[in-house]
Amino acid sequence: MDFTLSAKTEDHLERIKRFVEAHIDPIEEGYFRALLAQNHGERWRSWKVPPVIEELKRKARAEGLWNLFLPDAKLGAGLTTLEYAPLAEQMGRSLIAPEIFNCSAPDTGNMELLYHFGSPEQKERWLKPLLAGEIRSAFCMTEPDVASSDATNLQATIRLEGNEVVLNGKKWWCTGAGHPHAKLAIFMGLSNPENDRHRQHGMVLVPLDTPGIAIKRMLPAFGEYDEPSGHGEVWFENVRVPRSNVIRDLGDGFMIAQGRLGPGRIHHCMRALGAAERALELMIKRGLSRAAFGKPLVNLGGNRERIADLRIAIDQARLLTLYAAWKIDKVGALAAMTEISAIKVAAPNVLEQVVSEAIQLHGGAGISQDVPLTALYAMARALRIADGPDAVHRGLIARIEIGKYKHLAAGPRDE
Ligand SMILES: Cc1cc2nc3c(=O)[nH]c(=O)nc-3n(C[C@H](O)[C@H](O)[C@H](O)COP(=O)(O)OP(=O)(O)OC[C@H]3O[C@@H](n4cnc5c(N)ncnc54)[C@H](O)[C@@H]3O)c2cc1C
Repeated sequence: MDFTLSAKTEDHLERIKRFVEAHIDPIEEGYFRALLAQNHGERWRSWKVPPVIEELKRKARAEGLWNLFLPDAKLGAGLTTLEYAPLAEQMGRSLIAPEIFNCSAPDTGNMELLYHFGSPEQKERWLKPLLAGEIRSAFCMTEPDVASSDATNLQATIRLEGNEVVLNGKKWWCTGAGHPHAKLAIFMGLSNPENDRHRQHGMVLVPLDTPGIAIKRMLPAFGEYDEPSGHGEVWFENVRVPRSNVIRDLGDGFMIAQGRLGPGRIHHCMRALGAAERALELMIKRGLSRAAFGKPLVNLGGNRERIADLRIAIDQARLLTLYAAWKIDKVGALAAMTEISAIKVAAPNVLEQVVSEAIQLHGGAGISQDVPLTALYAMARALRIADGPDAVHRGLIARIEIGKYKHLAAGPRDE
């Protein structure tokens, strides 16, 4: 394993750093102030993207800092997962940079899904405008009425009727559904209950303006609506779309979800480490510039040890992330399931720990919105649930690990 940055990564990294410092950092405060003014769940239909974002997207694209997540050199930057990791980390330092480089969730996962599993027509209609950053999309899997961390529970339905499929059910936490440019939902539902449990579901592409779709509300996450994307509760009532909107075939939903969540999950982890670096930097700067009891805050109590422990935790998580990225490149997401789940547990927990300590050292300011720590904390806490809660990933790692010794089991296996 060689984690030396490739020349391509170094070049992109340097250019992303310069771009973020020159164009994104200076607008961050104003951007959030503008959004705060429209931050109201009930008014989500009139959410607007501050114009500076579209301007910066055009600029980033012109500079070739665009679709960096996609390994295909014709459609993306042609970087491997390992090469992309440091770039995603760099973007993760800013809450808005991923969108500006067209590398933000859930669109990256949805684009990957279309890239790998979409038909040529589906790619033309949906992947093209997503890659151009012209539209946004939502992934609708989780349901309010069932424990969705076990996806075999999903009960929304996909019924085949002639040349159409009919969708029914309630979905929530559909990130991106409130975005003013959201045009597409990817709906996962029960299509083949007669099949074995991992072949029962399908995925369907649904234009968000199809009759029968009702976006009931935006869900606040720790009181924040994460505008302009939002997290929608979306009801589907007899929503009809052509059968050609089914991705691959009915029954393939699980297989597609596994493929989607692999690289997408680790992008989150890389960004989380960038956010952790930023929180640690804010903590140290604050601790050096403020004094109490006659000393800079960093020199009080166990603060130096805390800073050292956080550095160790971030660097450990980074190595695990790079290892998972390397493994995805070498053997594919399915064979790297342990590593993907391991980093999906480790990175958000490290971020949570770093941000919590950074908040503590900031005192009251840490809880205010004068520094971005509460937003980073909410992100860390939510990431421990989104894309599968910690416990589910631990369960998967344990199953694979214990499975290596299954011949020694004394009684019936419970998995
Ligand atoms: C900010 C945010 C954004 C999201 N974005 C999306 C999105 O875009 N699209 C989408 O479809 N979903 C999205 N989600 C939903 C997310 O993926 C689900 O919340 C998650 O998969 C868990 O499902 P659930 O909420 O039904 O929890 P449940 O399945 O009810 O689980 C609740 C808890 O039960 C425990 N548990 C579950 N399984 C096990 C186990 N095997 N062992 C031990 N304990 C267990 C865990 O503590 C778990 O947290 C998002 C969530 C958040 C918070």
